[in-house]
Amino acid sequence: MTSLVEWAEQAGVCTRCELAEHRTNVVFGMGNPMGGLMFVGEAPGAQEDQEGLPFVGRSGRYLDQLVAEEMGLGRDDFYVANTVKCRPPANRDPRPEETQACRRFLDGQLEVINPRVIVTLGNFAARLLLATDLGITKLRGRSYPFRTGYVVPTFHPAAVMRSGGEMVAQMRADLVRAKALLALPAASLTPSERS
Ligand code: URA
Repeated sequence: MTSLVEWAEQAGVCTRCELAEHRTNVVFGMGNPMGGLMFVGEAPGAQEDQEGLPFVGRSGRYLDQLVAEEMGLGRDDFYVANTVKCRPPANRDPRPEETQACRRFLDGQLEVINPRVIVTLGNFAARLLLATDLGITKLRGRSYPFRTGYVVPTFHPAAVMRSGGEMVAQMRADLVRAKALLALPAASLTPSERS
């Protein structure tokens, strides 16, 4: 199996899509691949592009705060990555051909890490992993069986920061759901718990 380091090396020289022309750094992913938990966001922003690390800007700090408060976990406990590894110019949405070109790297990360629980942040990651066109508002509020674990879709922290109110409570509830799934011994995950 290709290791995370090897995937990161391949991503570091990738020119499969136009985003390669604009990037300062490839933002492959960071954190603990052994914690059973992975967050998947959309795409690096300006600060992530500068530092080469995911979710190090404002929305990342907000994510860290909510995860600490609701799950009692910090960056050493989970892995964080994005659906595309290079920043789209002016933070535009990633295009379908860019997401597809980058899919191999996310798939590689998922294969190596094999997380028990994947929390997707926002529309892009949820739609990609759940292979659906539905929006995050419809998708969130439950978990979905995914390979040997679960996907727990929730809002993107940037959207929650903008909207506040009920969205904050909903994202907190999604994180609590993810924590409960993470706490179950793998063998005790039964179909009745898959909702
Ligand atoms: N937003 C994302 O989706 N990912 C990041 O890494 C930063 C902001």
